[in-house]
Amino acid sequence: MSLPEVAERPIAAAAPAKRTPPRLLQVVRTQFLSDAMRRITLSGEDLHGFPQDRNGAHIKVFLPRADQRKPVLPTLGKNGPIWPEAHLRPITRTYSVRRYCVQKNELDIDFVLHGADSPASGWAVNAMPGDYLGVAGPGGPDPLLSPADQHFIAGDLTALPAVCALLECLPQHSKGHAIIEIDREDYRQPVVNHTQIQLHWVLRNPKVNAQENTLLQAIKSAQLPLPGQSLSAFVAGENGSVLAVRDYLRGMYGLQKRNLYAVPYWNRGQNEETYHQERHRIMDQEY
Ligand SMILES: Cc1cc2nc3c(=O)[nH]c(=O)nc-3n(C[C@H](O)[C@H](O)[C@H](O)COP(=O)(O)OP(=O)(O)OC[C@H]3O[C@@H](n4cnc5c(N)ncnc54)[C@H](O)[C@@H]3O)c2cc1C
Repeated sequence: MSLPEVAERPIAAAAPAKRTPPRLLQVVRTQFLSDAMRRITLSGEDLHGFPQDRNGAHIKVFLPRADQRKPVLPTLGKNGPIWPEAHLRPITRTYSVRRYCVQKNELDIDFVLHGADSPASGWAVNAMPGDYLGVAGPGGPDPLLSPADQHFIAGDLTALPAVCALLECLPQHSKGHAIIEIDREDYRQPVVNHTQIQLHWVLRNPKVNAQENTLLQAIKSAQLPLPGQSLSAFVAGENGSVLAVRDYLRGMYGLQKRNLYAVPYWNRGQNEETYHQERHRIMDQEY
């Protein structure tokens, strides 16, 4: 894995990749947003200079190994990252910037709590003020959602931090549908939405296969776009759902990479180590 992967998949005018060394941060406070999500607020000297305009963008997080209090971070060399020896190497995952507040110099990351045994989810379950986390980035396409008359925004809980950030920064006249798939009714969260985009919460049906997934059904039943209007989409979440929605939007609306962000954030039954290459293969596909 390169460090940081600041231009994972350009879909629009990507910001020039600015390489900054990973930042060693500490937990300031935590907050349960629901039984399934915990906000971890981080700060530290290293956080100064973090970009203010990249809420929703990708970041790499570096987790301490089981026998470490602080993660041993890679450093930036002339030809790329220099990683610590294998037995010291941090566990790396990808998350989203929920919000960076320059006045307080604080970074919020919202973690889905899908189990205490997985490195990142487990770290978030147990995180306490003073705990250390490394962060690199932000990166990824800028903007996350191409300008258009109408938008489809769709994803599961892992995409919610980016979706919330999008809804907070899109112009008020923005129109379309934002669909969030959840496993339980009480996983809903308050969402600030000053746009005209209609927000829908849909309950995942675990019995249907990826081709009939709940996000896809919700998108099929939405009325978009109006004749003559342009469309762009942001789709993120579990691999099977994202691919089915991506293929539908390509076939039905002729969306292409420049106006369709479709990134599988995780794959049921595979951890990040075993899924990482496959995600990048999918993201490199041309359409
Ligand atoms: C660009 C990008 C942005 C992301 N932003 C966020 C974010 O802001 N917040 C967030 O919570 N996640 C986000 N994710 C997803 C997150 O990186 C994955 O869920 C990751 O696998 C979690 O690591 P882990 O160590 O907890 O689990 P892993 O060790 O990777 O996986 C262990 C097991 O848990 C399963 N699993 C992984 N994630 C989930 C899940 N969400 N629900 C149920 N089972 C799961 C795996 O299939 C595997 O069986 C993002 C991913 C990408 C690529």
